[in-house]
Amino acid sequence: MRKPLMAGNWKMFKTPEQTTAFFEKFLPLVEKSAHCEILVCAPFVDLPAAVIAAAGSSVGVGGQNLHWSTGDGAFTGEVSGPMLKAVGCRSVIIGHSERRQFFGETDATVLQRTKAALASGLQPVVCVGEMLADREAGKTNLVLETQLRGGVFSLTPEEFTAVVIAYEPVWAIGTGKTATPEIAADAHKFIREQIRAHYGDAAASSTRILYGGSVKPDNVKSLMAQPDIDGALVGGASLDPISFASIVNF
Ligand code: PEP
Repeated sequence: MRKPLMAGNWKMFKTPEQTTAFFEKFLPLVEKSAHCEILVCAPFVDLPAAVIAAAGSSVGVGGQNLHWSTGDGAFTGEVSGPMLKAVGCRSVIIGHSERRQFFGETDATVLQRTKAALASGLQPVVCVGEMLADREAGKTNLVLETQLRGGVFSLTPEEFTAVVIAYEPVWAIGTGKTATPEIAADAHKFIREQIRAHYGDAAASSTRILYGGSVKPDNVKSLMAQPDIDGALVGGASLDPISFASIVNF
């Protein structure tokens, strides 16, 4: 059985003070939520406040990106996996579409970052997803296959066991246009088939595939009812403790 993972992506929102205030309201609302794993991926500067606030709870904290070097180095503006680990992170988002669109992320750098996360003991949440033009051109599966092949499928089977995949159709992110449960289900099924083809049945049935793209309290239930959807990666609706808690408690 795959335990659902409900993850928040705060993007570039909140100060440390706002982070502490979020957890004060959020934790009591999810203290009995043992049905799923809960993760909050905060901006780098908020991570210490998030880790302190979440201490003693089951809520994990993650970063939103990491550098592909696991050592120290002259990489101005970057943060490494060992640094995220040292501050108390459990996980890290890799290859989010906003990084692909605005910061030159490619499948090759996704792979390097994923390897760095694994070497640092962090759970990588690797994002894949098609643009609207890809979908309209009937290329959704081709895009997903290419991103998976370039971004994760050269990991060893052992490395791959720690990976979480997030399917995030780019046209649904921050737009209020959620994929219908059927569209999401088809993409998740395809991703699971790809995992099966590369890593076999056991990996296909144990890998968690999250859906992301305008997940809200009122649509999460129908998405989570799909057999291949194992959780959600939630942007905007994870910023408010009440709305994220109601998504967690779908
Ligand atoms: C995201 O940031 O990964 C995301 C899915 O955003 P939103 O929920 O706001 O669409």
